[in-house]
Amino acid sequence: MIKPYVAGIQPQGEGWIKLNTNENPYPVDVKIDLDFEKLRLYPQGDSDELREVIAAKFDVAPENVFCGNGSDEVLALAFQAFVSGQEVCMPEVSYGFYPVWAQMYNATPKFIPLKNWEIDFSEYSGNCIIANPNAPTGLAVTLDKIPQGGIVIVDEAYIDFANVPSAIELTKKYDNLLVVRTLSKSYSLAGLRVGFAVGNEKLIQKLTDYKNCFNSYPLDRFAQKIAAQALQKPPRTKEIIETRERLKSQINCLNSQANFVFWETPDAKELYEYLLTNKILVRYWGDNELLKNHLRITIGTDKEMEEFVKCVQQFQKEKQKKQT
Ligand code: PMP
Repeated sequence: MIKPYVAGIQPQGEGWIKLNTNENPYPVDVKIDLDFEKLRLYPQGDSDELREVIAAKFDVAPENVFCGNGSDEVLALAFQAFVSGQEVCMPEVSYGFYPVWAQMYNATPKFIPLKNWEIDFSEYSGNCIIANPNAPTGLAVTLDKIPQGGIVIVDEAYIDFANVPSAIELTKKYDNLLVVRTLSKSYSLAGLRVGFAVGNEKLIQKLTDYKNCFNSYPLDRFAQKIAAQALQKPPRTKEIIETRERLKSQINCLNSQANFVFWETPDAKELYEYLLTNKILVRYWGDNELLKNHLRITIGTDKEMEEFVKCVQQFQKEKQKKQT
């Protein structure tokens, strides 16, 4: 039986403080006249104009860029194209979709334990996938010890919130390195579904071939246009980083470099439920032995984080009262 990935809840209705799927609390600033008449026609299948914008932004050639319907699709295609039927190293704690894609495409995941929650490259060889910063820990690594010998996929969904350099520059040196990015987090466009990969042109061509066996037009006309305009501006990260640093001084969490924090608390389950009844959503993985005493909290606006901290304090007060 196939075991699907379970995404965080997307609640309907108003009044929620949504800190569970690492969305950006600030809206994107794009102004585009969308040409509905053009929707009669299929979009350009390889997102060529968008690839040019991305290439110019990261100082690579358009042949080094692949676009997909969210980075989830790019990553799924990368699993299918590069590690199907092979072993692939991945952190024991990382993005929960990696083992699902391994299962989907008959790859054998080799789970490498974290050391003090950090990725330690000394144990990696052959094909590997890591997220940098990692999820849900938020910890980032510098890639001076990047593994060699197989395909290396670096998922940089959260890199714009981090104080370490991107691995995109290294793709010019290493033919086996694929860096995957998303517009869902730092560009406030989770609803648009746009992700991309940067790498050697042979890797990009292979991804394109696999895409064309699955869906010739993964990005619609509007998504391509909006993404191309949004990328002209810098990512929206400054306020989120400031809010994150303030939250870090209030709760005893790991030193996250992403737009969320990973917090160890023995009351994780109870607190998750308490927050939920107060319409505050955070992420909790009760069925995972390694994560069951932790919560992952997305960084929202200052006001949202104040509400969150207030609710946690209320929970602790009520709990103390019950115990005395
Ligand atoms: N990689 C990581 C580490 C993530 O946390 C996410 C978001 N769930 C993704 C990739 C996928 O992002 P998207 O499909 O929205 O681009």
